[in-house]
Amino acid sequence: MAGMRRRIAWMPAAALRATLAAMAFGLGAAHAQPMGIPSMGAASGAELSPSLEHTLGEAIMEQGRRDPTYINDPDVNQYLTALGRKLAAAAPAPGPSQPITVFAVRDPQINAFALPGGYIGVNSGLVVSSKDESELASVVAHEIGHILQRHIARGMTQQSQTGHIMIASVAAALLAALAGSGDLAMGVAAFGQAAAVDRQLGFSRQAEQEADRVGFDMLRKAGFDPNGMAEMFSQLMNASRLNEGAGGGSFASTHPLSIQRLSDIQNRIREIPAVHHHDSDSYWYVRAKLRALQSRDPGLQRSMAGFFKQEIRDGSAVARSAAWYGQAYAAWTEKDWATAQSALNNARKDGVNSPEISSLDVLLQIDRGQADSAYDEARKAWARWPGNQGVALAMVEAMHKTGHDKEAVPFIKARAAQWPDQPRFNQLLAQSYENLGQQVEARRAMADYYVKVGALPTAVELLTQARSMSKDFYTQSELDVQIRTLKQKLKSDRELLERFK
Ligand SMILES: [Zn+2]
Repeated sequence: MAGMRRRIAWMPAAALRATLAAMAFGLGAAHAQPMGIPSMGAASGAELSPSLEHTLGEAIMEQGRRDPTYINDPDVNQYLTALGRKLAAAAPAPGPSQPITVFAVRDPQINAFALPGGYIGVNSGLVVSSKDESELASVVAHEIGHILQRHIARGMTQQSQTGHIMIASVAAALLAALAGSGDLAMGVAAFGQAAAVDRQLGFSRQAEQEADRVGFDMLRKAGFDPNGMAEMFSQLMNASRLNEGAGGGSFASTHPLSIQRLSDIQNRIREIPAVHHHDSDSYWYVRAKLRALQSRDPGLQRSMAGFFKQEIRDGSAVARSAAWYGQAYAAWTEKDWATAQSALNNARKDGVNSPEISSLDVLLQIDRGQADSAYDEARKAWARWPGNQGVALAMVEAMHKTGHDKEAVPFIKARAAQWPDQPRFNQLLAQSYENLGQQVEARRAMADYYVKVGALPTAVELLTQARSMSKDFYTQSELDVQIRTLKQKLKSDRELLERFK
């Protein structure tokens, strides 16, 4: 797809994380406005409308997905989002105003953060240090609690300097994206750095207690063990005591913890019958994968090896298999095919199998030059797990490697319809069309991809190219409509945001 990729402006990871955190947790804090950030005009004071909140959330995610700490992995995204949506389904009516989307960032600190638009970011450290699924779910439920109580939407428009800075800088980021210029995004990074210096972030005590209360009820109604919340919070309090003075970034620094909060939760647990929750298999495989993903530096690699060894010795059957899978995944990312294969065989011992194991095996066989057997395995895995995105993506890779491009087109189209919020399928569809020499369709598919990741000007550009290449009258008029609609959306997004300059 040479020439069709958009130039990517990487933002320093720390700056972006600070920006996201500052946007998420600005409630109640007041500090000086950094230079160069526009002040907010008449739009301040009111709560964000759901449509503006959605637009802002998309803008932040457009930046965030390009950050090197963002974990772009189908197993991780599908598992975490399913967990978030299971919890949100147990929320009191009317529930969140936007669907919940949960993603992971590579960061060993134990933390999570809520963004506008129903997005929740989870640090890999949180998943890795959870001892069971209920512990992980308790923090996600707490974040959904902030969303349901509209703490984010209110925080972003409150009559304080922080509220002004946040909304103006997000608006600036989106305007930059709408202008199609990656460089302008640096204004946001600068904000992140400025904010990181003197931020005193954190929700108010009252906001924390509300989020706990709402989160606790969701956790229980969704069938998780509410003890997970008490366990996680005491673990977090211990961690924050150990790290005292180490600076921000931890859960305790952004969601002030207190003995009071912990005892409130313990009191609620005493009032209800004990719950036993059976953890999903995917929890164990995703946790192992995230441990491998966050252990890139040598120090962490040693502790990773030790951890997996211990899980293999002491863990349940699925935890043992997941530990082998984690080692296979780590070896695969190091291109050590032989070690990856033998660890993967161990993960499958005693008849254990999972979609995560199968899709990794497909990718590994492709890398080892065994595309035909990879294709066979992918077909079997897809027949067994037709709801798994990782398996579907591995299937497409195998189709492309074995020249099944014609067959791939309807398969990918169906997957794009099945998972409309997963832009990767549109990108792969473009690749299939490209392989088949269908240039107009390739550009249209790639335009869909850019619409989904929020890069509207690039989408318009590709559709315009497709329009000039097409010789078919019907396609031309379809493209005309599409281009007009996108230009209209660009215009209205811009107008919405101009109000905050
Ligand atoms: Zn909180």
